[in-house]
Amino acid sequence: MSVQLETPLSRVLGAKTAKGMAETLNLHTVRHLLRHYPRRYARRGEQADLADVQVGDRVTVLAQVRSVNTRPMKNRRGTLTEVVVGDGSGRMKLVFFNHRHGQLRVNAWGMFAGTVGEYRGEKQFAHPDMHLLEGAEDETDWARALVPIYPASKDVSSWVIEKSIKTLIGAGGGFADLVEDPLPDDIRARHGLLSLPAALLDIHRPTTWEDVERATDRLKWDEALILQLTLAARRRAAALEPGIARPRRPGGLLDAVDAALPFELTEGQREVGEELAAELDRDQPMHRLLQGEVGSGKTVVALRAMAQVVDAGGQAALLAPTEVLAAQHARGIRQLLGPLGRAGELDGDPSGTRVTLLTGSLKAAAKREARADVAEGRAGIVIGTHALLQEGVEFADLGLVVVDEQHRFGVEQRDALRAKGNRPPHVLVMTATPIPRTVAMTVYGDLETSTLRQLPSGRGGVSSSVVPQLEKPAWIDRAWQRVREEVAAGRQAYVVCPRIGEVDGPDDEPEDADGAPPDTDDRRPPLAVLDVAELLRNGALAGLRLEVLHGRLGADEKEARMRAFAAGEIDVLVATTVVEVGVDVPNATVMVVMDADRFGVSQLHQLRGRVARGKHAGLCLLVTDVQLASTTGQRLQAVAATSDGFELARLDLETRREGDVLGAAQSGTRSGIRMLSLLEDEELIATARREATALLETERGLADHPGLAAEVAALATDERAEWLEKA
Ligand code: ADP
Ligand code: MG
Repeated sequence: MSVQLETPLSRVLGAKTAKGMAETLNLHTVRHLLRHYPRRYARRGEQADLADVQVGDRVTVLAQVRSVNTRPMKNRRGTLTEVVVGDGSGRMKLVFFNHRHGQLRVNAWGMFAGTVGEYRGEKQFAHPDMHLLEGAEDETDWARALVPIYPASKDVSSWVIEKSIKTLIGAGGGFADLVEDPLPDDIRARHGLLSLPAALLDIHRPTTWEDVERATDRLKWDEALILQLTLAARRRAAALEPGIARPRRPGGLLDAVDAALPFELTEGQREVGEELAAELDRDQPMHRLLQGEVGSGKTVVALRAMAQVVDAGGQAALLAPTEVLAAQHARGIRQLLGPLGRAGELDGDPSGTRVTLLTGSLKAAAKREARADVAEGRAGIVIGTHALLQEGVEFADLGLVVVDEQHRFGVEQRDALRAKGNRPPHVLVMTATPIPRTVAMTVYGDLETSTLRQLPSGRGGVSSSVVPQLEKPAWIDRAWQRVREEVAAGRQAYVVCPRIGEVDGPDDEPEDADGAPPDTDDRRPPLAVLDVAELLRNGALAGLRLEVLHGRLGADEKEARMRAFAAGEIDVLVATTVVEVGVDVPNATVMVVMDADRFGVSQLHQLRGRVARGKHAGLCLLVTDVQLASTTGQRLQAVAATSDGFELARLDLETRREGDVLGAAQSGTRSGIRMLSLLEDEELIATARREATALLETERGLADHPGLAAEVAALATDERAEWLEKA
């Protein structure tokens, strides 16, 4: 039988093993098994496994038998065998009932797997699975210094996996034929990489740590390159479907916008603006991510791009994550455009266009009118929430879609957007959450990126402190006092809470806590807007004009409160994270975040951006019950200590599981990523991206590299399979 990468495991392994692998480890083919790499390697006598294992862990350990003691049980028939094993750093007891295996001799080495239990304060395994390493069968294995420990399951142990892989590798000596190397020779040579068969041999059966390292280097390359090829192919496919060029036309809306701007553009805004203007002028649809700190002035960059498209006869849509924000954008843009944004109205300028706000909560008649404006092309600039896409709104000629605050938008939404126009529109996504380079190159790898690094000058900046309520009870009083001082000086404050409160329904979940550590059961429920507002109103902030803002208010009400806050009619806004994105009230200078530990790093950074909008210095107080010395406390202190969004984004990445980052934002890529680390492999990912782009830019693309093409296809198949499972 000839074994190939796509051969089902059921044809090469025992039925039970194959079934176990499929069901518990999601390994179905030879390819899958060869790419099931050891989690780590054990070394005789040298590691700290036993000292580190925790009760409740399911682990595989390599250890030596120290003593064996069999005695009759007191209250029952049969015998009890206690075996003490050690690994140089720790000891553990194994317990067997009626054990009959003679091989468990003192000094024997073995692998033991099971769930760690505890008996009278001592860690133990009851009836572990075990695999003794001495004896004829393992003589050769045992000469090797490193024993691979695989991700295993209760049905398939690490050593069964090891043995199965050994079977594949040993199969008729044809291993090198079985795994043809997909990497082009020149790439391999350029980067000094092992061949694939050599790397697989070394990763599964290494002799030295060096073997493992070199194999790892090579295997990471496969992952990086295949991923980048997939993304590059996606970029190319998008580019091949022509859009419509929207060239700049002088004397139109864009010039009017520029004339109306009450400030000079920063250099960054100008540069990115040029970049966008040039891209809009091509019939290849733009597909760009614009990142920039909160307050870096992304909106005006987007508005100028939208104006260019309107000048060229198309429509532009701006999508915001919340209705509050959509309304705010509409207000700001209308104000800036003046009569030019009211074409067709009595006081409008007929050479301008119409700015239309289209949100789910519009009254039926208003909605009908807005839809007609959009469908018949009177509205050049359309502003709304995601609902704009879902509600099947028709555009006369959609030329540009701007998505504000990208981190709430996944790939599927991006694809839905592209399907919106008659021909694919240009797409600009904006995010204030700085995205580490590696994430930009992977999760958002189908987008080109631009970055605004500079904040408009004249900003006060924000200083932040952690207020540990339990450790320093006096500080919280001081915090409220600071709020009163700012209000007395004519400024305004936000108090942000993780939850709305009052009703304990399912919609009382935290509104959004991206990247926050999971709640553990024994904590009190997160503080709620309604409760905190009540307390403050009757206590620390009595006498101030205090209102609440949260997602459960009707859109009109939300809008009215934001407006009142912006107009200075409210001193203190107690709110959920609805204030997180984009809300722009330059007079607000203090933000108190309650239960700050319940928010993710990037989210806190976003939040405090709300009080860095004006010329006055902002203050952000992160109130928490956690100890400063705890991991969470340190995380908060890190947020307080730096205002570098990129550094914080990196910290955020460290505190999340990488798989979540990749998996959540781009379905499927996960299946191709085993070794690659977004934190550690930045250079490798960048290099692979260059190589991938270069490969696809050649005339024949992957035609001369069937191996690579097959790997890319295999990734796509896995992706699809994952999709099917989800559906
Ligand atoms: P963000 O990037 O967070 O979306 P905005 O576009 O909302 O930032 O801009 C924040 C504020 O800065 C707005 O009030 C905007 O009018 C103002 N702004 C934008 N660009 C400049 C500039 N070049 N100089 C001064 N103020 C600016
Ligand atoms: Mg914004």
